[in-house]
Amino acid sequence: MGKHERHFKMNTNVFCNRTLNMKRINYIGLDMDHTLVRYHSANFEGLAHRIMREKLVQKKSYPKSILKLKFDFERAIRGLVIDKVKGNLLKLSRHTAIRVSSHGTEPIDYNKQNRIYKSTYIDIKDKNFDKVDTTFSIAFATLFAQLVDLKDGEEKSKLPDFVTIASDLNFVLDEAHRDGSLKDVVRSDLPQYIIKDPGIVAGLERYLKHNKKFFIATNSEYSYAKLLLDYTINPYLKGGRTWQDIFSYTIVKARKPNFFFEDTPFLRIDSSTGETSPLVGTLTPGIYECGNADQFTTELGLEPDEILYIGDHIYGDIVRLKKDCAWRTALVVEELDREVHGLKRAQPYIKRINALMEKKIPLEAGIDDLISRRIETGHNKNEKRINEMIKKSQELDKKISPLIKKQQSLFNPHWGEVMRVGIEESYFAYQVERFACIYMARLNHLLDVSPRTYFRSVKRPLPHELIVAN
Ligand SMILES: [Mg+2]
Repeated sequence: MGKHERHFKMNTNVFCNRTLNMKRINYIGLDMDHTLVRYHSANFEGLAHRIMREKLVQKKSYPKSILKLKFDFERAIRGLVIDKVKGNLLKLSRHTAIRVSSHGTEPIDYNKQNRIYKSTYIDIKDKNFDKVDTTFSIAFATLFAQLVDLKDGEEKSKLPDFVTIASDLNFVLDEAHRDGSLKDVVRSDLPQYIIKDPGIVAGLERYLKHNKKFFIATNSEYSYAKLLLDYTINPYLKGGRTWQDIFSYTIVKARKPNFFFEDTPFLRIDSSTGETSPLVGTLTPGIYECGNADQFTTELGLEPDEILYIGDHIYGDIVRLKKDCAWRTALVVEELDREVHGLKRAQPYIKRINALMEKKIPLEAGIDDLISRRIETGHNKNEKRINEMIKKSQELDKKISPLIKKQQSLFNPHWGEVMRVGIEESYFAYQVERFACIYMARLNHLLDVSPRTYFRSVKRPLPHELIVAN
């Protein structure tokens, strides 16, 4: 590795898709849930799973047997797509081709998958598909798969069809968010669900010294935002300051992604009573409800590319923003920590797989060459050699396949890596690459680097360029 390359690799915890000069960024916008405020996600999703089951029994007359279903946080990953008609979970490649799938919780083997879906690309805008876009959807996908299992088995007559199961799940999950049943439990036991991290506050304060300004734009309502910010930010501030001294603007019920492309007016919130009133005049620092990105940018006298918005929801925070508003983007991908750790541990397996592939590829080419000659000349004189070579190639496959399994076991046991599917990029990785200027596992990783950092994108070789590189 040359001196030059080492220089490019300095910020190993923040990854760059599009060059971003932090000196140019004056305002940093933060989503709250899973971005500024981290959750004990397995606990929170376990809670959502339980409340959804209870509501299905109470409100939708589902059989009581579903109350016994266990939650397993590993059962689904972000980026999966739910086929509501067929009761399947799908993991897609960057071209939206299905690469891994399950019916309920049962893996579908490759041949069967091909019979069901042929080799078509999925149209993910189709209303028969739901996306697992955020960590808040893991419980949904898991319970859907478990209910599909029950519908296929012992509770066949007591459960509706798969599409109705999905819509019932949407109904109870929405209600759990709306009627406060989820948030009341969180409120009653914050340490169980919310992570407190002094590093975040220290990082924010350091950025403030560089004259960077912060704002929050969250879809949560004021009382919940206040609860979490009082709990995670205030204890680490000195001199009687509160989170309101850190964030120039706090925008609650922002209705993202609509916030980025509609022109909903801002309402001012009285921080002591939580009451709203129409905004008179222009925006001044404070707490607001609703609003829109365009007015925010204009009234603060900013150019759109002076604002960096950081969120964890690939669609709600990032994709629509990038399509409709010219702010810069950063995505928090919680799973990255595990992914990078797994990649490091996978290196010995990858080396052995590559060494075996180096033997296999010329062998395959040799077989094809001999068979071609047989077809073209009509002579069978190489038959014995061909058979020997095929046998050798099969022996190599036998060595390669357990190594691939071992490599995959370092990631999610059911779905493998979040960002890859086999050698291809996953659909999720494609969206990250296309819409997030930078991405990292946690907000701290950005706050840990200098606010003067120049993030440079790396050159991604195209297939035809590799021939020269090699
Ligand atoms: Mg969020």
